[in-house]
Amino acid sequence: MVNSVKRSCPVKTTCPYCGVGCGVLATVTDNGSVDIKGDPDHPSNYGRLCSKGSALGETIDLTGRMLEPQIHGRSATWDSALDLVAEKFKDTIAKHGPDSVAFYISGQLLTEDYYVANKLMKGFIGSGNIDTNSRLCMASSVAGQHRAFGSDTVPGTYEDMELADLIVLVGSNLAWCHPVLYQRIEAAKAKRPEMKVVLIDPRRTMTSDIADLHLPLKADGDVALFQGLLSYLAENNALNNQYINSHTNGFKEALGAAGKLTAADISSITGLSNSELRDFYDLVAKTEKTVTVYSQGVNQSSIGTDKVGAIINCHLATGRIGQPGMGPFSVTGQPNAMGGREVGGLANMLACHMDIENVKHRNLVQEFWQSPTMAVKPGLKAVDMFNAVANGDIKAIWIMGTNPVDSLPHADYVKSALIKCPFVVVSDIMETTDTTDLAQVKLPSLGWGEKDGMVTNSERRISRQRAFLPAPGAARADWWQLAEVGRRMGYEQGMTYEDNSAIIREYAELSGFENKGSRDFDISALATISAESYAQLAPFQWPQKNGDAIAEIRFFADGNFYTPDKKAVFQAQSERPKESRSFDLPFTLNTGRIRDQWHTMTRTGKSPRLGQHLAEPFVEIHPQDAKDLGIEPATLVEVYNNFGSIIVRALITDRIQQKSVFVSMHWTDQFASSARVDTLVDAITDPYSGQPAFKASACSLRPFKANLFGFLVSQKKPKNLESEYWALARCEAGWRVELGLKETPPNLSEFAAELLGTNQFIDYLDAGTGERRFATFDNGALSAVLHLSPTPVLLSRNWIVSELGRPVANKMQRYRLIAGRPANDVPDIGAIICSCHSIGRNQIVSAMMEKGCNTVKDIGICTKAGSNCGSCKSEINQILSSRLMEAAE
Ligand code: SF4
Repeated sequence: MVNSVKRSCPVKTTCPYCGVGCGVLATVTDNGSVDIKGDPDHPSNYGRLCSKGSALGETIDLTGRMLEPQIHGRSATWDSALDLVAEKFKDTIAKHGPDSVAFYISGQLLTEDYYVANKLMKGFIGSGNIDTNSRLCMASSVAGQHRAFGSDTVPGTYEDMELADLIVLVGSNLAWCHPVLYQRIEAAKAKRPEMKVVLIDPRRTMTSDIADLHLPLKADGDVALFQGLLSYLAENNALNNQYINSHTNGFKEALGAAGKLTAADISSITGLSNSELRDFYDLVAKTEKTVTVYSQGVNQSSIGTDKVGAIINCHLATGRIGQPGMGPFSVTGQPNAMGGREVGGLANMLACHMDIENVKHRNLVQEFWQSPTMAVKPGLKAVDMFNAVANGDIKAIWIMGTNPVDSLPHADYVKSALIKCPFVVVSDIMETTDTTDLAQVKLPSLGWGEKDGMVTNSERRISRQRAFLPAPGAARADWWQLAEVGRRMGYEQGMTYEDNSAIIREYAELSGFENKGSRDFDISALATISAESYAQLAPFQWPQKNGDAIAEIRFFADGNFYTPDKKAVFQAQSERPKESRSFDLPFTLNTGRIRDQWHTMTRTGKSPRLGQHLAEPFVEIHPQDAKDLGIEPATLVEVYNNFGSIIVRALITDRIQQKSVFVSMHWTDQFASSARVDTLVDAITDPYSGQPAFKASACSLRPFKANLFGFLVSQKKPKNLESEYWALARCEAGWRVELGLKETPPNLSEFAAELLGTNQFIDYLDAGTGERRFATFDNGALSAVLHLSPTPVLLSRNWIVSELGRPVANKMQRYRLIAGRPANDVPDIGAIICSCHSIGRNQIVSAMMEKGCNTVKDIGICTKAGSNCGSCKSEINQILSSRLMEAAE
């Protein structure tokens, strides 16, 4: 339940998760809950939402929220907290200089927050030490575009993905990570079946569902793959010489570098056969309308910038850029990663796409801001920033809206750096995260639904996030916190804003200041916008210059790049991937997202629906590797390397290549005993972008020998989870927990009483299996069930979860609950596939077998699965395909 509110009209706002930037209609209903729908008028999603967006209403309650400032864990007033932050930062700067302080901010911030943070650090404190967690998801795209185009410009629009005849998805699991773009491509392909999709990914992800061709590339084989493509295009008369000659430099050098690779080299580096390579190259060569979509698989690499360059080279060489249905397309991970880039939130950039290393730009920004100083060099990028915290060079850091103790590579090192840091401030919406735990000062921020401002999505579309809930407790906007600290540091003149529209007017004016077409980013049309008009602002794409009619613009069809001679620059790449490991171990650890969780689960972890899809941390292992290592399905596995180890569930699948494993990035110490995968990720970064290589760390695996397994569902959040392995997830009526213990406790009844929080329980021993089961009831309803077993607990989990809190009618039902067996007329629905309607795998299979459903549409009609947000359609299709194949065998 949210604060007491009246029923409202739908408020047009924007989803706070991925970089697709879907428009949302949020309606506060009579009972205080919030009804969420896709905004049919928003040009990025036209009414669609994915499972995460659809469940937004379940994530905005005040449980666990930070509602007042705190100093050393004690409640404080805003005045005392802000005074302390300003004083500590001032003192540190006075004693050690401006580079002894830093801000580490987030792609979750609104543009207003970003703008004020960047202005305070670069123009008033005088250091470049402000960086953002967007460094972790797309900095290599920024660097790659900057090198090639002279600017950080995404040339195209989402519509290009629908107009293309060929979409090449590189390192991008769109079905799970950008689901609405996946849905748009899927719909376009359904209308035009001749449209082709190629998926280039070491894993056969759910996105392979729409792929005509899947190329299971070796990790970091991308540069060689696209160098081979460049050579093939040249050899097969597929170049656009007019475009190359008129609008680019460096083609000969790039082609020469690519030509050093033989076909055998390319096959060996990519792990792809000659025929796979030829099929792909031929398809690209003959398809004019080609869009190459890429994301974390490209960016999160020690050669990410070179990968981006290799992709862009092929588009420049064919002139397939900036025209309908053509172009390279970087999709960003976070809702306002693009806004952060525009506003100079990265340590090496200035506001409005200006460059910190360009003295003219520095002077221009300082003159506009009338600021006392200006950073003269790039600040420390994320990984280097926390190294500087660890070695004592940075002595005061302010972290906003992000959880670096979990999300940065070498995460335990980051944690120890923050423990040692003399002054740590964290602004967040949640009281307890793995990072807020380490702060001397905690500042309560506004959450989605309470804050108000602007975000930019992956297609340069600026949309409004609008408040539809009151600010809870003492929570305040991040820009307000920054401006208040700035004023208390003595920067009254530059840090006074009557509201957020004043920030946007200033930002828009700066974007047009002495621009005259010299810079891509120009939103000067908003320079005089009133607060009322800002409140009503409809989504639009930049650039939007003062005086120009509203138009959606693609860049670079006729050249006009932002380099000194207005020509793009081909990149002559080194031919082989550089070594990206600081030690060698037999497996390559790939990390990434899953469908129904977001980042470190501080918000999506609240949703019972989202918690049911994949309820515990897991490692994907190839069947042969599992066999070789003696790892059985559903047992526990230790993934380890020189930095530490984690314990996760084995998910054995041939979707992953041999000697490669995948672990999701989401689980923190708040949701699992030992599953922070970034503790194992090596802090190796791309030399140009500073982006860490999250997808190719060395690791080993071994079975985790548990002697006791447990499964608990409980209405109360369980305490005292004292076992080597536990994983916690929300369910509709409470919590579900998986357990794994090395040693069986001597007294299981006492152990159960600790977990259940009572010794009033029913206790049952299954002599056949050795399982002990415990159940508690409250007013005749099931309040908790605990199963303990010497082998992994096998029972219908979703059925038990659904019984929690329900009245128990008779003895037989009690018996069934404790036995973990539903009655014959209550089918086991199996693992949840459709989160929106809680439809399990077994229900989908029985719709196939018993009702003859052979298409996703039929399954939707029959079971409702996939009929709401559609995020599970690829999984339904996979189930259909595998069952149909089995039937055909
Ligand atoms: Fe939100 Fe999903 Fe849209 Fe991304 S695709 S913006 S997570 S609704």
